[in-house]
Amino acid sequence: MKSEILRLLKESDGYLSGQQLCDYFQVSRTAVWKVIEQLKKEGYQIQAVRNKGYRLMGSPDVLSKAEIESMVQTKWAGRQVVYYEETDSTNIRAKDAGEKGGEHGSLFVAERQVAGKGRRGRGWESPAGTSIYMTLLLRPTFLPVKAPQLTLLMAVAVVEAIRQVTGLTGGIKWPNDVVFNGKKLCGILTEMSTEIGFINYVVIGVGINVNQETFPEEIKDKATSLKLETGAGIRRGELIAAVMERFEAYYETFLKTEDLSAVRARYNRLLVNRGQEVKVLEPDNEYEARAVGINDTGELIVRTKDAEKTIYAGEVSVRGVYGYV
Ligand code: ATP
Repeated sequence: MKSEILRLLKESDGYLSGQQLCDYFQVSRTAVWKVIEQLKKEGYQIQAVRNKGYRLMGSPDVLSKAEIESMVQTKWAGRQVVYYEETDSTNIRAKDAGEKGGEHGSLFVAERQVAGKGRRGRGWESPAGTSIYMTLLLRPTFLPVKAPQLTLLMAVAVVEAIRQVTGLTGGIKWPNDVVFNGKKLCGILTEMSTEIGFINYVVIGVGINVNQETFPEEIKDKATSLKLETGAGIRRGELIAAVMERFEAYYETFLKTEDLSAVRARYNRLLVNRGQEVKVLEPDNEYEARAVGINDTGELIVRTKDAEKTIYAGEVSVRGVYGYV
């Protein structure tokens, strides 16, 4: 009821009458009043006027189940939010739910992670109060081999959501980072549980640097935040909702094509490595090549002096010849 009341307050231009809320939810006036008081405690500015009702005057940048659910306008992506003030990692929480029958589209969000993860066991810096750490649980019916493409789909969704909310156009560093001016704004980590020939579940973790003003020494040269780039603070709930909307639309197209043909051109336009010399880091080999773009299944096509090669993301990293991008 709290998420719904918040949603109604946000959608309403004027006052929402207390009586209407009581009738709508079939509860007492005291029950409605209690929810309003809780929202006020969380920082929402709500005006209550006798004979008129309640009106939302201002919303803080809080992350909560009610805040996120009140903003998400999708059919299934992020409609069910599981929120943690602090957790190990939202990917771990989503995988746990995946094992226990958690629903397709559930979204796990944390204010702080104590064991945030990047690819191949690397860490993800996850302080409280400024960032988005979220993981979407999916139960796809396509073959496991196709699942890694979802990372690229999410990258496009994140870039477009950021553009919609802030006006800033980031780029993508293949396969899983959203960057701006050569620095990382967002990392994406896809993990899955499979049996031979089918997927139990997939989780897509997204970490977006939103309102940070500083970064720890080890990453300060390669990390940035939306606040640092735009100068403006951003309401995280709004950005989460925008990512869910974009991703849901792309995912539904993906179910039909089962490849990235519908977003390939878009992805390649956003690809910062495109046309650039890159260093390809394989587990036991390293070489330089020119990045051409992705193919329909999300692999990176690169050209060396004498051949064209297709790179699979799994074990390989790509760097700029002179730095991270
Ligand atoms: P690859 O190209 O192989 O993906 P990567 O360094 O981008 O390499 P990821 O697994 O995507 O690896 O991200 C983890 C890395 O990101 C960490 O090793 C750290 O250097 C950096 N990092 C950690 N926390 C943050 C953060 N909040 N913002 C930006 N970068 C971070």
